[in-house]
This record gives sequence, structure tokens and C-alpha cells, in this order.
Amino acid sequence: MATPLVEMRGIERTYVMGDNLVHALRGVDLTIEQGSSIAIMGTSGSGKSTMMNIMGCLDVPTKGTYALNGRDVSRLSRAQLAEVRGRMIGFVFQSFNLLSRTSALENVEMPLMYQGIHAADRHKRAMAALERVGLESRSDHHPNQLSGGQQQRVAIARALVTEAPIIMADEPTGNLDTKTSYEVMAILQGLVAQGKTVILVTHEQDIAAYARRVITLRDGKIIDDKTQEPLDASKAVAA
Ligand code: ADP
Ligand code: MG
Repeated sequence: MATPLVEMRGIERTYVMGDNLVHALRGVDLTIEQGSSIAIMGTSGSGKSTMMNIMGCLDVPTKGTYALNGRDVSRLSRAQLAEVRGRMIGFVFQSFNLLSRTSALENVEMPLMYQGIHAADRHKRAMAALERVGLESRSDHHPNQLSGGQQQRVAIARALVTEAPIIMADEPTGNLDTKTSYEVMAILQGLVAQGKTVILVTHEQDIAAYARRVITLRDGKIIDDKTQEPLDASKAVAA
């Protein structure tokens, strides 16, 4: 069998708050294969963001092991985590997190700048990423000249531009209206069809219906893990 992309064993994350310990994750075991489409659900405070932060190499667990693509990343330094993150993961956020004084194209180029890629190559790859989300004609627009849905598509292009195998999205449709949410989900489903692994956090059942696997957290534990036939978001866009 192929090495799983994500393999978490006995993951715990405890935060120290003054004299108190907050047990945000209390023993999570999770295996994710490459090419998966996953929604992580759960009420506020159930540990979704903590889990995404560890899965996305933004944080390390207090206890347990996490192997990402076969490499143990649970005890890496900040600098080592940043290197793995840059290579393996593209992030999409609820509030888009685009630089406001910068064009769509330059926003998408940003991760390549950090990797020291030269201008001509950067430009070409960023344009190609914008094409993948249907925004090549908006490359010189600034975020405030774009709709919310277009801004999120720019953010997805930025997550794609490094060719990272995993896209992680924390509430990517949280600031979007229903129709625009379907458009964004259709793009994410298209990426899964092209072999990316898409892991998203949502508290909306409607959005989770577009994922193949739905994992539910409660009080820092996985209480449900089910596989379903996902709805087709492109049909919802067309409707
Ligand atoms: P969710 O994303 O599902 O709302 P979180 O992972 O953000 O949940 O939080 C899980 C628990 O951990 C909550 O009780 C929250 O208050 C606590 N928590 C999260 N981050 C921190 C932190 N940096 N310091 C202290 N407690 C935290
Ligand atoms: Mg959260």
C-alpha cells in the first residue's frame, strides 16, 4: 500500500492558560490518503482549528506522532516546519488574506518569491494558476476591485501556485453568499479530480456535502468519520 499522506497517532494538544490546562485535542488518530476530499466538522471549540494547525505544520502536538507523507513532523523546529509547509501545503482562509495594495497576479506570485523563484518564471506560473481558477483576465486587479468570490479564487490560485499536493481551507466559504460558495466548492472539487488532497473545515452541513469524507470533532476527539458520495458543486452553480 502507498504511504498515507497524513498519519496521526494519539495526537494531543494542550494549551496552558495561566494555571489552567486546556485540552484542545485529546487523542486523535487519523489517516488520510492522497487525493482525498475531507470536511472537518464540529461545534465551536471542538478543536477543528487546532487540528488544522497541526495538520498544516503551523503547530506541533503536545503528545503523539504525525507523519506527513511518511516523514515524522511532530517534533520539528519552526524553521523545519516552515520548509515542509511551503513544499507540501497551500492554505485558503475564510477572510482570503490577500495583500490589499497588490494585484491579483502579485498576490499569487508571493509564495514563489519566498522560494526565490525568478521573476519571469514566477509570472508565468502565477498566470497559469490564475487561469486554473478562471481569473486570468483579472490579473492586474487589486483585491478591492474584485468580488468576494473572485478574491477567494485568487487565494486558491495562490495556494496552487507552488504545486503543493495538499490544499487546506479553514471555513473557505464562511464570508461568501450561497451561490459563490458553490463556485468555490466547484473549484475545490475540480482540484480533487486532478489529484490534490483537499481538507476543509466547515460548520455548514451544506458545504460538507461536497466532500467525500466527513470527520466530526467534539471536545477534542473524533466522534464520527463517514464516507459519502459527494454532491456535484458544478451542478449547484449551474442551477
Ligand atoms: P474550533 O476551531 O473547533 O472552534 P479550536 O481548535 O480553536 O476549536 O479550540 C479548541 C479549544 O482550545 C477551545 O477550548 C479553545 O478555547 C482552546 N484554544 C484554542 N487555541 C488556544 C490558545 N492559543 N490558547 C489557549 N486555548 C486555546
Ligand atoms: Mg476554528
